[in-house]
Amino acid sequence: MPSPAAFLGRFVRGMRSAGIDELTKKLGGYLPVADVARVRAAFDFGAIAHEGQRRVSGEPYITHPVAVADILADLRMDANTIIAAILHDVLEDTKVEGSEVMARFGPEVAQLVEGVSKLTQMKFQSKAEAQAENFRKMMLAMVQDIRVIMVKLADRLHNMRTLGAMPAPKRRRIARETLDIYVPLAQRLGMNQFRLELEDLGFAALHPLRYRVLERHLKRVRTSQKAGLTKIEGTIHATLEREGISAEVTARQKHLYSVYRKMRQKRLPLAEVLDVYGVRIVVDKVDTGYRALGVVHGLYKPVPGKFKDYIAIPKANGYQSLHTALFGPGGVPLEVQIRTADMDEIAESGIASHWLYKTGDQDASGRPEARAREWLKSVMDMTQAGSSLEFLENVKVDLFPDEVFVFSPQGDIFRLPRGATAVDFAYAVHSDIGNACVAAKIDRRMVPLRTPLASGQTIEVVIAKGAKPNPAWLNFVVTAKARANIRGFLKNLKREDAVALGKRLLERAFTQAGLNLRKIAPDLMQQALADFHLDKVEALYESVGLGQRPAPLVVRRFLPADAAAPSASLGPLSIKGTEGMVVTLAKCCHPIPGDEIMGYLSAGRGIVVHRANCRNLAEYRNQPDKWLEVEWAAGIERDFQVEVRVDVQNERGTLAGVAAVIAEMGSNIDQVSVNERDTQTSTLSFQFLVRDRDHLAKVMRRIRSMAPVMRVYRARA
Ligand code: MN
Repeated sequence: MPSPAAFLGRFVRGMRSAGIDELTKKLGGYLPVADVARVRAAFDFGAIAHEGQRRVSGEPYITHPVAVADILADLRMDANTIIAAILHDVLEDTKVEGSEVMARFGPEVAQLVEGVSKLTQMKFQSKAEAQAENFRKMMLAMVQDIRVIMVKLADRLHNMRTLGAMPAPKRRRIARETLDIYVPLAQRLGMNQFRLELEDLGFAALHPLRYRVLERHLKRVRTSQKAGLTKIEGTIHATLEREGISAEVTARQKHLYSVYRKMRQKRLPLAEVLDVYGVRIVVDKVDTGYRALGVVHGLYKPVPGKFKDYIAIPKANGYQSLHTALFGPGGVPLEVQIRTADMDEIAESGIASHWLYKTGDQDASGRPEARAREWLKSVMDMTQAGSSLEFLENVKVDLFPDEVFVFSPQGDIFRLPRGATAVDFAYAVHSDIGNACVAAKIDRRMVPLRTPLASGQTIEVVIAKGAKPNPAWLNFVVTAKARANIRGFLKNLKREDAVALGKRLLERAFTQAGLNLRKIAPDLMQQALADFHLDKVEALYESVGLGQRPAPLVVRRFLPADAAAPSASLGPLSIKGTEGMVVTLAKCCHPIPGDEIMGYLSAGRGIVVHRANCRNLAEYRNQPDKWLEVEWAAGIERDFQVEVRVDVQNERGTLAGVAAVIAEMGSNIDQVSVNERDTQTSTLSFQFLVRDRDHLAKVMRRIRSMAPVMRVYRARA
């Protein structure tokens, strides 16, 4: 790269052709000298950065950002926006880093440039038109500063103006994207001049033939209508003047794309669409507008049902105007718009009109950002009455505060409620994905499944064969789909578990009574099922397994009436702790292998296992039919949760010391709480995992040997 001086020397003439002189002149008309100098410095910097790069048309690349800045200068945007426009492609296309832009032009410019680059990187990958709306919303939601969108729109406008140099397929793709994404964005922001031009350019690129046909007709019609229109303009103007109303009356130009759209939407022939005169009346204040309306209604007969008061009820993008339709001279339809000069400015440039540098504007509230903020606020107030949204703090366009927009790795867009997690996303993709998900990557980084998602992220779900939904997910998922799927899956799982346990319990009860479940005659079983109002034997197993029907009572149904009570004792039912959702370990006493235990049949939950000395068991004493003798199976291979309390003297580091001992002994701590009993002593409460009673005894012994520890004991209800 040559030195800046050498480079500038070589490109003095080139600079002029790049349009910087015209831009500087334009800016001089409304910006302070110091700001114009900053823009000039940005040009020098950008021209060097883009040196050697050319557009497809062959021009030096810098002509493009300068043209973008020029478009924004027509809107009289502030200096930082103009500078950001000149630098809008340096991060993407040159070696320049964001930090350098920041150092030279300040944080605001750096933020704007980074914002535009971020939008440029977002590729409109999916062709599904249904996604266009989500895409636009996501763009708006991601952007911290609305000026980023304005630069992006100006960038797109210039690219559309110079689209001719592109090969045909690319031209069509860009035109499609412009109509799908950028036109509605411009409309949302009220930037109508942008919108109309983008529409016509998009239409021309997408349907060149239709465009040419329409253009030719339109030209002819304009010529033939000219005389009539001039006459109407004059009549209206004179009549208003006679009533003491001074107004600007202009004939409205019909835009190609709106003519085309009207033909398609209303299925009208071209002649009928074009056979309408359009007139705009601009007045000084609202009151005058309503009076002007009365005057034109007196002049020409109004078409019933066509009057619309967008002044009293503005459109969602802030547009205000009175619309009416009249029977003009000779019965020709005449469409009239009436508005104030301020409203007219907003109708043309929308949000951009509030950045306008108004020369001689002495208004103290005249800072452009402040005015734009006001505008956004008023638009929001108009469209969703009474909401005071935080985005107004920072001209932040969080138009969709309750939603996030994220990508799949394939580029599909998903709209989820705020707070949605990777699990919600997985279920949104497909319930099979949700059910099998085990981990997630956000922007290629591994994250916990419970991580809330933010707009613009790309989410990849890691699934594993045979994986199952975790009941704990219900604590953080926010979408109805995820919730319903997890619940449904767990219910199924519980049913399967219940059938298995019920069968086991029944087999034991039959054996105890000297019978064999498998040898029960089918007709006897059918009869019993009918008596129980059950349709099949699985349903019987399920109800026994869920604790709704004690197994001994079922067996009695198959014994002769005078049979003695079951004689053979089989000993207790063995519990592994892996029976699934129908055998649960009581949370009050946390039984572990080695503990003496009892089972309690709880209707709907199956067997709840308590320690034999659990205080809660006393309550169940008077329900002996709900008792079940249980014991631990041999060779259990899983960990069990226990709760241990530690009374300690208050000393620094005790909690950490005890926790370290538990961890050293190979236990995972799930939960810790501290309860200060008095100034001297506290009770620490730990929930952690152990293999069995032996393991627990070792851990407790180690804790007991610590100096500040007074007492160690298991929590018991
Ligand atoms: Mn660009």
